[in-house]
Amino acid sequence: MAKNAGAQPVVAVSRRGGDRLRSGHVWVYRSDVIEAKGVSPGALVTVQELSDKSVRPTRAQSPRVLGSALYSTASEIAVRMISPKPVDDLAQLVRERIRAAITYRERFVQDTNAYRVIFSEGDFLPGLIVDRYNDILSAQTLTQAMDSEALRNVFVSELRELLQPDSIAERVDPRVRKLEQLPEKQSGLIFGTKTSTEFQMNGVRFLYDAIEGQKTGAFLDQRENYAAAGQFARGEALDVFCYQGGFALHLARNCSKVTGVDSSRPALEIAEKNAGLNGREIEWIEANAFDLLRDYSDAGRLYDCIVLDPPAFAKSKQNLPTALRGYKELNLRALKMLRPGGILVTCSCSYHVSAADLLDTVASAALDSHRILRLLENRSQAKDHPTVLTIPETAYLKCLIAVVS
Ligand code: SAH
Repeated sequence: MAKNAGAQPVVAVSRRGGDRLRSGHVWVYRSDVIEAKGVSPGALVTVQELSDKSVRPTRAQSPRVLGSALYSTASEIAVRMISPKPVDDLAQLVRERIRAAITYRERFVQDTNAYRVIFSEGDFLPGLIVDRYNDILSAQTLTQAMDSEALRNVFVSELRELLQPDSIAERVDPRVRKLEQLPEKQSGLIFGTKTSTEFQMNGVRFLYDAIEGQKTGAFLDQRENYAAAGQFARGEALDVFCYQGGFALHLARNCSKVTGVDSSRPALEIAEKNAGLNGREIEWIEANAFDLLRDYSDAGRLYDCIVLDPPAFAKSKQNLPTALRGYKELNLRALKMLRPGGILVTCSCSYHVSAADLLDTVASAALDSHRILRLLENRSQAKDHPTVLTIPETAYLKCLIAVVS
């Protein structure tokens, strides 16, 4: 890619936008952009702050330069900072960040050949997600900049050189492409021919299919929680919202009987294959979790361990109250079905549900069901999904493990 010879387009942001960046965030919303005339989609821009919305940059003023960013002409998140310093060789910077992300994994990720290699803002590469499943990489571009041919060439060549995968698949999120006004496209391979493989985490084996897989192929963010849950579980276990068996397969190592529940038949078919791969017998039930929990708790069924890992109920702040009612109901039902000494593993992957919200909700379910919960672990996402403390959106997964009396 050609170096930018100082002709970088300028985006002017308001004081509020500037304050946000000074607080350690990397986003500026479109409502805080004062001027971005003629800036092309995905451009590398210089961000300047103007203190007053009505003031345009004049020669007399010397606007404050806040750094370099990647610009989107479509998204509500118009600006994603890439460096507080001027950047003149974006390709070089992206290569360095990829190398740093890989070094971080070498240091902090263990017991797996499947992990998130690049976590967007969490690895200072906004708009890029890359997961590794053994010898296959799965990449996702979420912004105009990261989807540009120039940057795609950079990350594909760098990942090939550093990780030497057999293939790289692209996982397309049609909703995001629409928001970014990027042309529609299909998921598929961008390098190599291999589309499926086997990976392991914590010594448990899983199948991966780059093309057929639902969403990410696996919930890598739960990897450390699987190990923690597996360590406490015993007796009879119920994994609710089990998908392809992430928790169930880990529980099966110490439990006498494990049942997994999910509404997706394709997910359960893979779960069954995964069980076979590990030489485990697990009962898989295709059902609506709310109905099944109601029926089972009414019927007085009891377990020694119950995992609740529902999809994100709160897609926005507006439906937080409804979402919390959903979490409460699930936890209430589960608590009724746990034997004394039983283990509750309860998760939320909704960003809008805070850790405090989940604790409150589970506490209130404990009160209502006349059970006492003692918290064993208050967990979050695996370390290959790094949380940047000044970017709240990089933290989204909660996982509580508690023992019930
Ligand atoms: N625990 C899983 C991830 C769960 S993701 C793991 O660690 O791999 C959420 C799952 O909930 C999906 O598999 C989805 O099919 C399922 N699901 C969504 N709504 C459901 C419902 N009402 N009843 C049962 N399963 C549901």
